[in-house]
Amino acid sequence: MDIAIAGAGPAGLAAALFLDRAGHRVTVFERFEAAQPLGSGLILQPTGLTVLAALGLLDAIVPRGSRIERLHGSDARSGRTVLDVRYAAWRGGRFGLSVHRAALFDVLFDAVRAADIGLETGTEIEALDVTGARPRIVTATGRLFGPFDLVVDASGARSKLKRHARRPCEPRPLAYGAFWASLDWRGDGFDPHALVQRYDKASVMIGVLPIGRPRPDGEAQAAFFWSLKPAQAAAVRTAGLEAWKGRVERLWPETRAYLDQIADFDQLTLARYGHHTLKVPAGRGLAVIGDAAHSTSPQLGQGANMALLDAAALAHALDRARDVAAALDSYCAMRRWHVRTFQALSAALTPFYQSDSAAMPFVRDRLVATLAHIPPVPQILASMVAGTLAAPFRPIGLREIDWRAI
Ligand SMILES: Cc1cc2nc3c(=O)[nH]c(=O)nc-3n(C[C@H](O)[C@H](O)[C@H](O)COP(=O)(O)OP(=O)(O)OC[C@H]3O[C@@H](n4cnc5c(N)ncnc54)[C@H](O)[C@@H]3O)c2cc1C
Repeated sequence: MDIAIAGAGPAGLAAALFLDRAGHRVTVFERFEAAQPLGSGLILQPTGLTVLAALGLLDAIVPRGSRIERLHGSDARSGRTVLDVRYAAWRGGRFGLSVHRAALFDVLFDAVRAADIGLETGTEIEALDVTGARPRIVTATGRLFGPFDLVVDASGARSKLKRHARRPCEPRPLAYGAFWASLDWRGDGFDPHALVQRYDKASVMIGVLPIGRPRPDGEAQAAFFWSLKPAQAAAVRTAGLEAWKGRVERLWPETRAYLDQIADFDQLTLARYGHHTLKVPAGRGLAVIGDAAHSTSPQLGQGANMALLDAAALAHALDRARDVAAALDSYCAMRRWHVRTFQALSAALTPFYQSDSAAMPFVRDRLVATLAHIPPVPQILASMVAGTLAAPFRPIGLREIDWRAI
């Protein structure tokens, strides 16, 4: 089949590799002149790592990342532990791998280039032309490409193509976003195998995540983040860098080693979050995957992993179905429960960590922190963070990797 993919993010690049290997003629369209990753770091969960293993890319990504064994969060004022999730609570030796986005992008993009997959950069997709039997894509400059047997929308949360899905919807903006920065890793006092967070109620969340090396020969880095309402970012900038640093340091003195590396607000990227879930991530001749199909806050750290699972699912569905329409139905069914489960969990849990509520962090710091030690809660939390609740692998034809062999 002739397949067009809109977007060279994790979803689009992984889909291109799966579909090219299945023998389809694939072209990836990317709005940027040079395809590039945006943002700081992310955690590849056992789900995303299993997809990368299926693509034969595990050996390439593992040395570039930091092995993550646990997520630890404490109250900034009392020092009390309120979150302590360990992957090892679930049998089998699972772990997460936190990476700089550039590392994930490079590994996928190098494989796309090595496979000689068609790539049209500097091409912003505006719409689908579905007047003919097969869809064509329309660019922002009015150029037409196609027709294609299938168009895959992997253009992220702000996708313009998702309006061609059967039941379109747009992301609802979330109250809180965050400042993010990639900084040099400073070991002193920070666990190289943990995402560590400090909270002040739910209105302040500070995090430090080791993210390995963006380039193979580069220095180890950390992602540093501070949650805030995007609407307050201008006021924070006006109050000045030293005032903001002073606030962070009062809540978490050990972050001095990171704050010292920030000389300008320009080093901090303001990320805005939204939440949406397409009920049917498909339209006529269109599959919607990744953030275009379901966006959310990164609280549960599943977005890129779900994008990789979607890509694997779509290829599996196309492999088994008699035609494109049947494959699209099958793709939607394969991913339905896993996507809905994690979108619902993310929507429910995010306000406990990022909201103006006083009651939710109160419950979090007392009830949840206590329950989290009583079996089977640690096991369930470990499986939730790993992304493996709601059986993501079998419906899409994957087997989880043998972690102990890595
Ligand atoms: C601050 C932050 C932290 C996060 N942390 C985590 C984490 O720890 N773990 C995790 O799994 N996820 C995390 N996520 C979520 C994760 O980044 C996304 O879920 C993931 O990048 C989605 O991949 P995607 O390929 O669907 O979309 P994207 O990564 O958004 O890629 C979309 C691509 O499409 C291109 N594009 C957009 N519009 C067009 C167009 N009209 N025409 C052509 N090309 C277009 C873009 O340039 C881009 O290359 C985080 C997100 C943020 C913002």
